[in-house]
Amino acid sequence: MEGLGKFRFGLSMPRHWGQTESERDQHRWYFRWRSHSDQATCPDCHTVSRHSAKRYTDPTLQDFPLDGKTVDHRLTRTRYLCDQTDCSVYTFVEPRGGFALPRLACRIG
Ligand SMILES: [Zn+2]
Repeated sequence: MEGLGKFRFGLSMPRHWGQTESERDQHRWYFRWRSHSDQATCPDCHTVSRHSAKRYTDPTLQDFPLDGKTVDHRLTRTRYLCDQTDCSVYTFVEPRGGFALPRLACRIG
């Protein structure tokens, strides 16, 4: 694969997402993204947590083709600890936020 410069998604990208890698070959564009969030809301009790636990890498998301090539995205999100002792959730992965736009069509693996 051939390395590329930074891909320009422009203003549609949430600020806490940073591109860490981009490559292409004859048939495919491949982008890796990493969240730099510092907090997330527990999906169960809705408490905001700032206690990150570790990272979670999503299965590959396939985007619409670009220049006739398959476009794959790989997201690494932050897993947080819920601080509420009576919450049924111990850890949770932050939501994709604005990243998983409707243009990200389907998961492939
Ligand atoms: Zn919770």
